[in-house]
Amino acid sequence: MNGTHQALIADFVFDGKSVRRGAAVVMEGPRIAGVLPASELPNSISTRRLPDGTWLAPGFIDVQVNGGGDVLFNDEPTVDGIRTIAAAHRRFGTTSLLPTLISDTPEKTNAALSAVSALIGKDPSILGIHLEGPYLSPEKPGVHSLQYIREPTSDDEQVLLRATSGVKVLTLAPERVPKGFIGRLANAGVRISLGHSLATYGEAKAAMSEGLTGFTHLFNAMRPLASREPGPIAAAIESPTAWFGMIVDGVHVDPAMLRLALRGEAGAMVVTDAMPPVGGKSASFRLYGQEIKCEGGRCARSDGALAGSSLDMAGAVRNCVRLLGVPLESALRFASEHPARFLGVGHWLGRLAPGCRADIVAIDPETIEVFGVWIAGHDHLAENEP
Ligand SMILES: [Zn+2]
Repeated sequence: MNGTHQALIADFVFDGKSVRRGAAVVMEGPRIAGVLPASELPNSISTRRLPDGTWLAPGFIDVQVNGGGDVLFNDEPTVDGIRTIAAAHRRFGTTSLLPTLISDTPEKTNAALSAVSALIGKDPSILGIHLEGPYLSPEKPGVHSLQYIREPTSDDEQVLLRATSGVKVLTLAPERVPKGFIGRLANAGVRISLGHSLATYGEAKAAMSEGLTGFTHLFNAMRPLASREPGPIAAAIESPTAWFGMIVDGVHVDPAMLRLALRGEAGAMVVTDAMPPVGGKSASFRLYGQEIKCEGGRCARSDGALAGSSLDMAGAVRNCVRLLGVPLESALRFASEHPARFLGVGHWLGRLAPGCRADIVAIDPETIEVFGVWIAGHDHLAENEP
């Protein structure tokens, strides 16, 4: 080790698997060189000791972010729009994310794909894109405009297959796409996630056998669990190879339902489904021309339909501990290691291990507030980024 190394020392280091006491995370440029007992650090290395009680953990990865910093991705599918959204979420521990476009026109989708492509490899916070829709069930639209919900064309498929926008997640209703569509996209590396769907259990299982691996905001906007038609929720929960997103804000889903899901075999991921007010100044915004107000943690249209959330990732982790009663280590895994594995980037993100990118958060374990954020070894909060 030499002058290019720097080390963060904390009372607790959660590396993604286990908690190590009195450990140091050694960074070499943008990567993690190793995690070792603080007592074994060579004298030559530059070190920073975090306050007593601090936890260091892998940076948070949010696979569903509609907006932040007063920007809605659908309204600003541009490089600047994405940068504003990522900066707004960073202070809450989000070190990488997928800007998420909800159902819109093909032109808007193309603009979003191009803007994300332009940032891949340039802004480490941007891993790729999540297209939520438009191949959804018109019977489970949530706030998606029925005007845009439709079935895919062969042109759409070519656009998705050719796009170079990093990791791609596509939320769709399996019953609304032709046979083979899911398999072709999944084979090309697109992560297919069921959402806004009336799929039956059988339809969900068939989609999984074609390559569907995700479930978008499990429980919300999908066929509910029922005695003789278990639907996609049962298909997800019983599968050890499935991943499900959960919005843990105490508003979208009753905590008892989420605790039930956590007793199953599938991997849980916390997502924010965040809207412009996160990290922004205004508590309201416009979606498809209609006003959405965010009050008391609930973002809703005037008719009461939920429109995303005002949750941030630190808040989501905190709610996992306080509302769901899970240990902090598990909550941190739901926010880092699990989304990394769902996205197929678990070999270099979501853990504090040699060779992984140095995406790290410093947390107060009592308040679960984030007060330090490193992305690719870069100390972001020290630079007072907007
Ligand atoms: Zn949704």
